[in-house]
Amino acid sequence: MLVLLSSACSKLTVFQQRVKMSHAYPFLTPEQKKELSDIAHKIVASGKGILAADESTGSIAKRFQGINVENTEENRRFYRQLLFTADDRVKACIGGAILFHETLYQKDDSGKVFSQLLREKDIVVGIKVDKGVVPLAGTNGETTTQGLDGLNERCAQYKKDGADFAKWRCVLKITPTTPSNLAIMENANVLARYASICQSHGIVPIVEPEILPDGDHDLKRCQYITEKVLAAVYKALSDHHIYLEGTLLKPNMVTAGHSCSHKYAPQEIAMATVTALRRTVPPAVPGITFLSGGQSEEEATLNLNAINQCPLHKPWALTFSFGRALQASALKAWSGKKENAKACQEEYIKRAMNNSQAALGKYVSTGEKGAAAGESLFVANHAY
Ligand code: 13P
Repeated sequence: MLVLLSSACSKLTVFQQRVKMSHAYPFLTPEQKKELSDIAHKIVASGKGILAADESTGSIAKRFQGINVENTEENRRFYRQLLFTADDRVKACIGGAILFHETLYQKDDSGKVFSQLLREKDIVVGIKVDKGVVPLAGTNGETTTQGLDGLNERCAQYKKDGADFAKWRCVLKITPTTPSNLAIMENANVLARYASICQSHGIVPIVEPEILPDGDHDLKRCQYITEKVLAAVYKALSDHHIYLEGTLLKPNMVTAGHSCSHKYAPQEIAMATVTALRRTVPPAVPGITFLSGGQSEEEATLNLNAINQCPLHKPWALTFSFGRALQASALKAWSGKKENAKACQEEYIKRAMNNSQAALGKYVSTGEKGAAAGESLFVANHAY
């Protein structure tokens, strides 16, 4: 009798818990949800993608080093100005631009702040809010990403200063023993916590769990790891009550490791990528904006095009959020010389237009190469 009673009680408790947990406590109002969803959809509107121009001062130093340009604040401002003032041909191609903190507050030659300049061009302004990767103790060289301290206050300020979306990059590595379960869980959770803070300020979080291309693993292993990482990310986003319609995902394309001896065709990369995404990313997510991850400009465009041509149902916009693959030729053409400004912009516009076509699955390669179109942009253990 006593046993029966206690089992009835525990059943009641479970039932009561279910009732209690059937709704999240109110997190976002319908108006807040609409704002987030509108922003996300605007960024990935048909044929549009993202210019990732959020290299930290240290990362842009490496890009400038490659073209022999001194890493001064003025050079950084001048170069970003060239990208942001490219003519109206980019209008149909670029829905958003991600900026580094310094850039958000810089001005063009006429004294207009960049965030204003971009908004006037109908480009949504984004801001990198993470503070870089740090070691995860007790792992074999794995990392988590820091930057949650003060993020609430920073997001409130960034929203006032014109930013409507944000980026946070986490990094995972493929080796025979990684990513570890700890790294997968920790990075998924920190991405979810970041996303939650952003959404409470009307900022669309770009969730970026980048799996590095370093290594000699094959395509299947990258697909398997990508699925495990994304499944963990979406479980954490659900646990944190994230409003998925007001988010974007920025993943790696599923590719073999940089040192893998077998080369895969864009169609194989596309099938592996879309299969992994279909198994893990809810259709409520408006857009998937790939990073280029050290692929050459042309490779990244061809792979994005193949992804959009992949004959599987794809319920999200599949587009670009490229850094290196949008800027390599432009940087080279500029080479720090004022007189090369036009040439720099032409290279950037060309990449933007090609990637816009690829986002529609309509890219046809002309075979014509930009200043760096075929060049590998791989950087070992890449930081941003
Ligand atoms: P790449 O396209 O150069 O990989 O960088 C995009 C980015 O924003 C990485 O965080």
